Amino acid sequence: MIQAGLIGTPLGHSASAAYFAQHHPDCRYRAHEMASLEGLRQWVEEERLDGFNVTIPYKRAIIKHLDAVDDTARRIGAVNCVRVQRTEGRTILTGYNTDYQAFAETLQPMLQPWHRKALVLGTGGAAQAVSYALQKLGIDHTFVSRTPETHPNAIGYDQLPSLLLPTNHSTLQPTIIINATPVGMWPNTEETPMPDMQGIGPQHLCYDLIYNPEKTRWLHEAAQRGATTCNGTAMLHRQADLSLARWRV
Ligand code: NAP
Repeated sequence: MIQAGLIGTPLGHSASAAYFAQHHPDCRYRAHEMASLEGLRQWVEEERLDGFNVTIPYKRAIIKHLDAVDDTARRIGAVNCVRVQRTEGRTILTGYNTDYQAFAETLQPMLQPWHRKALVLGTGGAAQAVSYALQKLGIDHTFVSRTPETHPNAIGYDQLPSLLLPTNHSTLQPTIIINATPVGMWPNTEETPMPDMQGIGPQHLCYDLIYNPEKTRWLHEAAQRGATTCNGTAMLHRQADLSLARWRV
């Protein structure tokens, strides 16, 4: 039996424990709300963990608590999966990023030839994993941030309407939009990261990393305008499977 867990706070929105219980009964998976990372190693030892997932707000902060971080996770700057190894009385924690691969694998089957440029809403850990995946897929992209001046390759939300105008037929028009912010997530389901949806149409692929609710207000409005939509459920399941594969090694 694999012993695994999830740390973050708050964890009320997480569907990971239910997914493991249903699809991987050989893995005991417990969510553990942690107010700080101070007690991390004590929790790992008490639970005799083989590995664990990391979610909001610790995907970046966890790095300095680990013994090793794989190259990809280091480049992304975020860890969502940690493998625990015990050798010669030492416990070694190694960080990985399975979010990026899960995102790439779930995006790829939906891509059409005109999906050449993307907008990534948000600049946090998930947005960096998405950016890495897009780089690997050769898709040019720009971040959209509330503070674009503090991030490289970012524009502000006020620039979205003109960029998405239907009259902007240039090859620069982004036709993939990824919501990598928590805006619209339960319980704040009335919120949307893009109050103005003008310019969104059938040529767009709108991918929301949120999976609770199943269809955010943003995805609902995108679908009403004919866009192809995808929520974060498939990505969540894929990153869980990829994490388990790390813990099983
Ligand atoms: P995070 O580190 O907290 O970053 C979220 C980013 O969103 C922030 O950097 C911020 O960018 C932007 N943001 C935050 N609050 C906002 C607001 N009120 N209005 C507009 N923008 C806001 O979170 P994360 O770990 O990247 O996760 C983001 C979302 O992806 C969460 O909903 C999470 O559940 C989801 N997620 C899903 C999966 C999956 O498997 N489906 C995996 C990972 C994450 P700026 O400050 O630059 O605006």
